Amino acid sequence: MSAPLFPSVMPGLSLFLPRTCVICSAPLSLAGALRSVPLCEACDRELVGLPAPRCPLCGRPIAGLAGPCLDCRRWPHAFDEAFPLFDFHGGAGILIAAFKFGGRRSLASWFALRLGAAISERWPDRVIVPVPPRKAVVAERGWDHVALVAKGLRTMGFRIANPLCRAPSLQQKHLGLAERRSNAARAYALAPGAKVPAEIVLLDDVFTSGSTADACSRALKGGGARAVAFVAIAAD
Ligand SMILES: [Zn+2]
Ligand SMILES: [Zn+2]
Repeated sequence: MSAPLFPSVMPGLSLFLPRTCVICSAPLSLAGALRSVPLCEACDRELVGLPAPRCPLCGRPIAGLAGPCLDCRRWPHAFDEAFPLFDFHGGAGILIAAFKFGGRRSLASWFALRLGAAISERWPDRVIVPVPPRKAVVAERGWDHVALVAKGLRTMGFRIANPLCRAPSLQQKHLGLAERRSNAARAYALAPGAKVPAEIVLLDDVFTSGSTADACSRALKGGGARAVAFVAIAAD
C-alpha cells in the first residue's frame, strides 16, 4: 500500500497538483507531485533516450551499419544532423499526447529539461528556432505547444529566435509521405524582415518523415543560416 497521497496538513494544495502519473497511472508521492510534473519517478527513470549506435544524420538507431542509414542515403535531409530524444512508441508518445491533447502543460518544463541537456551537450552556443505552429491549431487549442517548450528552454538560459512563419496548409498527419513532402515544402517561409541566426537548433515535438524539418531548414539556409541541427522530443 502506498502512503496517503496528500496529507491533510495541506488542504487545497492537492487541487492544483498532479495526482497520478500520466504513463502508468500510479499515484504520485507528495514529493513527486510537488515537482508539478505528472510523471512518477519510476517512469521518469525508465524514459531513456533512443539507443546507440545512431545514424549520424537523422539520429535514428541503426543496426550493423557504419555511416548514414539507408533512408538518409536515399533521401538526404536539408538539416545537417538530427537528435530525437526518445522513441515515440513508448512512454514519450503518451507524454506528448498528454501534453498536446490532454492539457498537461506542466510537462513543458520536463521536456525542456531533457532537451536542454541534449542541446547543451551537442550545440551549446546555438540559437534555438521553434517550428511555427499552424494558426488553426493555435486558434483551436489556445496555445502553441512547441513555443511553450521553447519558453522553458529560454528560462534555462538558451537563446530563442522566431524567424520562421507558416503559410496556410493541410494538416500533415492526414497525408501520405509524398504529399507530406510537397505540402511541407510550401508551408514554411521566413517571416518578413526576419534576422536568421548563423547556427541554429531547430525544435519540434515529433520527428516523423522529417519533411517539416527539411522545409524549415531550407528556408533558414536560404536566409543565410550556415548550420541547422534538428532536435525533437521523439522519433516516430
Ligand atoms: Zn509512472
Ligand atoms: Zn539516417
